Amino acid sequence: MHKCREGQLYIGGAWTSPGQCEIEPVLNPATEEVLGYAALASTADAEAALDAARTSFDHGPWRRMNIAERAAVLGRMVDWLEARDEELCALVRIETGSLQSFARSMQFGTGISHARHFLKIAPQISSQSFPLETVQRPDGTAIVGGGVAVREPVGVCAAITPYNVPFMLNIGKVIPALVMGNSVVLKPSPYTPFSALILGEAAEAAGVPAGVFNIVNGGPDIGNALTTDPRVDLVSFTGSDTVGAAIQAQAAPTLKRCLMELGGKSAMIVCADGDVEAAAQNALASLTQHAGQACASMTRLVVHNSVRPAFVARLREMFEAVVIGDPADPATSMGPLIREAARRRVDHMVQAAIGEGVKLVTGGRIPAGRDKGFFYEPTLFDDVDNRSLIAREEAFGPVGVVIGFDTSDEAVAIANDSEFGLTGAVYSKNVGLAYEIAQALRTGKVNINGGSGKMSSYHPFGGIKRSGYGREFGELGLHEFTYVKTIAYRLA
Ligand code: NAD
Repeated sequence: MHKCREGQLYIGGAWTSPGQCEIEPVLNPATEEVLGYAALASTADAEAALDAARTSFDHGPWRRMNIAERAAVLGRMVDWLEARDEELCALVRIETGSLQSFARSMQFGTGISHARHFLKIAPQISSQSFPLETVQRPDGTAIVGGGVAVREPVGVCAAITPYNVPFMLNIGKVIPALVMGNSVVLKPSPYTPFSALILGEAAEAAGVPAGVFNIVNGGPDIGNALTTDPRVDLVSFTGSDTVGAAIQAQAAPTLKRCLMELGGKSAMIVCADGDVEAAAQNALASLTQHAGQACASMTRLVVHNSVRPAFVARLREMFEAVVIGDPADPATSMGPLIREAARRRVDHMVQAAIGEGVKLVTGGRIPAGRDKGFFYEPTLFDDVDNRSLIAREEAFGPVGVVIGFDTSDEAVAIANDSEFGLTGAVYSKNVGLAYEIAQALRTGKVNINGGSGKMSSYHPFGGIKRSGYGREFGELGLHEFTYVKTIAYRLA
């Protein structure tokens, strides 16, 4: 595994010397072994990072370079990362506890393809030209003038990320922000600092100028320092709705622009003519692939009552065949939750639902015979009332609820009856009906019959309601790191 700057932070183009900051062990969640020691930034470190970022933006060469030049430098950064794919996939797997296949595809592969796509499209980002207009003046003379709207970097961006898909989410903020000319301070989750610090090594190797990109590992205090400081122009946040709301309040006095990629309680609607096997496979992947620690997981399975028994029986069979264990073993099909606190939260929600009389189909326990690792059984409830807490709150673990319906209007009403609005899915052979349902869902994304099968780098991603606002990835993901400047001119 790549040793990523243990005990160091990346500030102003330099690695802080060990001993200057507090050190914290980082655990492998499958074994609870210490995989390395990470530096925890102090608020003075955050200050230094902000200083470096601000100075580089206001006075440095980066934002004055043309976009193709910046894309070339960042292309070398991505090359550096891609050349280390084996060791970085291993690092991400050990740090997050995700399956080898998930580490390779969603964590590393999707991160790299999003980065490449950003670098490909950024130099083509268009400015808008407005027609020439004539203004008659009272003295009889005329002014002929026009205008153009161009996209400018916003300034200093604080990127704050969660633990579940850290490599992809870090790169998904850092690359578009940098290519558009911004300076960045990245604050990863303290559970997964090494998947962030590696980007500092890559930036250094590629020749990103000092101060343009900085990394400070830390918890809420460091997040607070970044989101309240007047030197920061934009906060790009991915995490829970609760922390998103706190950050929005922290950023309010200095009127920062915010992008909020938050949690979800997404609904998969399986119509009477839907492919039950495909829908169950999708639910299985969604709820177990990363132990359900995905914002876009299909946690509410809204199934037509005529096919609900078949769907529940099949998903139960799949859940009970899941091989829980250390992702280092290729036979494992579900790894651990990130930490004991996350497991306790999931178990608390599950036990509360059982206590309320919600019908447990399978799971609902810490697997027997394991004294190490934060594992939890894939858990399924059936015949769930959409008003119950287990159907409303994000568990961020391997927990699904099945809710029955009889008409498609009812299915849409159930799906939309949520504080969240991140994603959704529809299964029906009637593609016209599936499209109508997709249009009626109040979410940022809907997959029909499994969608395009991958996380496309063209597709913008993001939510509405308590799932946040703004979009990441694709062209809109680049726009988020720019502001529009209108330049008006007069013809001589
Ligand atoms: P979290 O909200 O607890 O923490 C996210 C980040 O915010 C961490 O780096 C944390 O240290 C930092 N933070 C905490 N308090 C802060 C504060 N007051 N000010 C500034 N920063 C602060 O989330 P998590 O537990 O790491 O990740 C899980 C959550 O992330 C889930 O809700 C999941 O749905 C969400 N998520 C959303 C998306 C998306 O694209 N919509 C993607 C992945 C994860």
